[in-house]
Amino acid sequence: MTIARTNDANVIDATRIEAVKVEYYQIPLAEVLSDAKHGDHTHFEVLACRIRTKDGYEGMGYTYTGGKGGRAIYSLLNDELKPFLIGKDAARINHIWEEMGWHLHYVGRGGLLSFAMSAVDIALWDIHCKRLNQPLWKVAGGESNTTRCYAGGIDLNFSQEKLLNNIQGYLDRGFKAVKIKVGKENYKEDVARVAAVRELIGNDITFMVDANYSLTVETAIRFAKAIEKYDITWFEEPTIPDDYQGYARIAESTDIPLAMGENLHTPYEFNYAVQQAKLGFVQPDASNIGGITGWLKVANLAFVNNLPICTHGMHELHVSLMASQPNAGLMEVHSFPIDEYTTHPLRLDDQARAVAPDMPGTGVEFDEDLVKPHLIKQS
Ligand SMILES: [Mg+2]
Repeated sequence: MTIARTNDANVIDATRIEAVKVEYYQIPLAEVLSDAKHGDHTHFEVLACRIRTKDGYEGMGYTYTGGKGGRAIYSLLNDELKPFLIGKDAARINHIWEEMGWHLHYVGRGGLLSFAMSAVDIALWDIHCKRLNQPLWKVAGGESNTTRCYAGGIDLNFSQEKLLNNIQGYLDRGFKAVKIKVGKENYKEDVARVAAVRELIGNDITFMVDANYSLTVETAIRFAKAIEKYDITWFEEPTIPDDYQGYARIAESTDIPLAMGENLHTPYEFNYAVQQAKLGFVQPDASNIGGITGWLKVANLAFVNNLPICTHGMHELHVSLMASQPNAGLMEVHSFPIDEYTTHPLRLDDQARAVAPDMPGTGVEFDEDLVKPHLIKQS
């Protein structure tokens, strides 16, 4: 396809947003998955946003939830952002990102709006990459096309036997790094589970724990000290994400580095967290930090603070972003089975590194036939 390039006006007209389509899916999980604060997950929600430009490019962006809030995000996309986006220049990604934020800032800053913005932003990046005829890992930075990764279990409700079987399954699939949930009523039970997992995986496998912000600062410190001997690479969300000073107190009390990010939904929040919380790893999620634009802002923040950038969720997209960055740490391979619904499921190479797709665009496409039965509504 040729794009009019004779003058600026033509380019802007060709890249104008002509149509926005929104889809809302509820996708069931094969079994109930639990963590300490969100409780039981029985399904997850996917909100897809398809944007078409006047010159015929189409991009697909999306966000997801753990099963709640999807209808509100659908409304933000369909009722608020769709009319706002029609006619805008899809090539001005940063401009649209900021404008979306200010458009609904008063009611939405850092909340559901960040999820809705993410779906739009990812669709715009998909169009941008397709227009360049390049894969996202190259367009976003091009450091590499692979990244280290780990299997992130959602397994707090599993018996110890089932927990160990699940971890063994990750090892059998080739993973060299794993994470388990903690946050049992009595932290000593968590200590026993950590000990059992370390015994199973041996000394060469990277091992992390995630409390989903369920502990008090004092309990988090006690727990961290009790598991230091098991070589834990990071302790994720020990306490509420708003208590940056509390994180700093925990970090000063243990050798285990802290990680957080899935509950920080603006780059500004990350800035405060990096300044105050003494984090060892930052974990933005492109589905709730304002898409690829927001994620890259946090990746750069991490870079200039000499911190590894990591991720939460949506590995099918994050694989390209992580691969693109020089300070990439470990990418979470999430337990929601999204790979069963995409045309390019995640692939590990023989070094256990996740491989970014080489197709033009973000590399994420849902298999229409597979997701259609789970479509709740569209517009
Ligand atoms: Mg987590």
